[in-house]
Amino acid sequence: MKYLEERQELISYGKKMKEEGLAPGTSGNLSVFLKEENLVLISPSGIDYFDLREEDLVLIDLDGNVIEGDKKPSSEWFLHTSFYKNRDDIFAIVHTHSMYCACLAAMRMPILAVHYVLADANTNRVPCAPYERYGSKSLAKKAVETCGESKGVLLANHGLVTLGEDLKSAFNLAKTLEYVAEIQVRTMAIGRPFVLNKKEMDQVIDAFKGYGQK
Ligand SMILES: [Zn+2]
Repeated sequence: MKYLEERQELISYGKKMKEEGLAPGTSGNLSVFLKEENLVLISPSGIDYFDLREEDLVLIDLDGNVIEGDKKPSSEWFLHTSFYKNRDDIFAIVHTHSMYCACLAAMRMPILAVHYVLADANTNRVPCAPYERYGSKSLAKKAVETCGESKGVLLANHGLVTLGEDLKSAFNLAKTLEYVAEIQVRTMAIGRPFVLNKKEMDQVIDAFKGYGQK
């Protein structure tokens, strides 16, 4: 079986996604892009992450043809491949139905810079793509269009998509955006939160580039 390490990583982040409450039921899916072969390793449709075995992950090409695996790929495979086709800076995608992101998506509101950590998404607002049925090609098209240069996009009345250079950063961004969305929803319940402007957020985005251990 090819890509054993990537398979184990996908299973481990799938479990984390459940444990952190980011994806109720069998919702939520994730993938990594294998650039050497132009293939995508993606979670299968409708299997609980705690029952998932390495061989259940599905290796597909960018047109959705199954290259390896006997399971059906996630119903959102077209959403994943559309991002990989349109963005050369991302190699992993996490899709969640987390509560506060889903609340804002139901309001069809962007996630605003109510906390500076939103800068992790490389934007000062995470936009919300117009409603389209889950799993549809039009959903994928609108999500990619709406996302622009951001690393996250909400899907109206549905959930969140995050993009990363690797699975860890895409997963961490899904957690961060849920945190910011929660602040936004809670502060909006008591009034009108102050929102950081583009200049303030650009300063944070710049500062983040040099943040952490070298
Ligand atoms: Zn979904």
